[in-house]
Amino acid sequence: PVYRKAEFLTSAAKVSQCPDDNGWEVAFAGRSNAGKSSAINSLTQNHKLARTSKTPGRTQLINFFTVGEQQRIVDLPGYGYAKVPQKLKQDWTKQMEAYLQQRQSLRGLVLLSDCRHPLQPFDQQMLGWAAEADMPVHMLLTKCDKLSKGAGKQTLLKVRGQVAHLGELVSCQLFSALKHQGHGELIATLDKWLTD
Ligand code: GDP
Repeated sequence: PVYRKAEFLTSAAKVSQCPDDNGWEVAFAGRSNAGKSSAINSLTQNHKLARTSKTPGRTQLINFFTVGEQQRIVDLPGYGYAKVPQKLKQDWTKQMEAYLQQRQSLRGLVLLSDCRHPLQPFDQQMLGWAAEADMPVHMLLTKCDKLSKGAGKQTLLKVRGQVAHLGELVSCQLFSALKHQGHGELIATLDKWLTD
């Protein structure tokens, strides 16, 4: 895969509208504001690719980008706004669960979480679904430029300890889109998932 050649493929409002389930796919998930769009844009060196949706309650779409022949990265809608209506949250939950459980081409999940407050209920839910589906998860502790080097290291060790019970399916790293930190490690994981 060549991430800087990423191109928008299509959007889906529900799992039934996803493109053909062939090849390899890696999905990015995170609470709103976790830094998901920034991470995708920085990975692809395309600052217009993933757009942030700052409007609470807006219809949320699953966005697909091609990064090679039959290789895709997928931007999953996040939530986290208290104002989102209950009905929308329920729909979101249903669609995310269905996508994670049913999607054959999905090889792994990149879970983004602000390093200053990682492992929120959202993250726990995603980790739970992934574990049920035997799906590997790579956690990005985002915006690590906001922490000192020492505090970052401590956070990383702590989070690793907190997910240790999930075994080898879960890995963790520090990431900063702003300072371009952690790209090599992320790309190594994506390459492995998208070519195995
Ligand atoms: P999304 O809602 O998960 O797509 O999050 P965004 O990518 O839109 O980022 C949310 C906010 O965090 C924005 O104000 C970004 O500028 C900021 N942000 C994202 N990544 C970083 C980072 O690596 N470092 C810092 N300091 N801020 C970041």
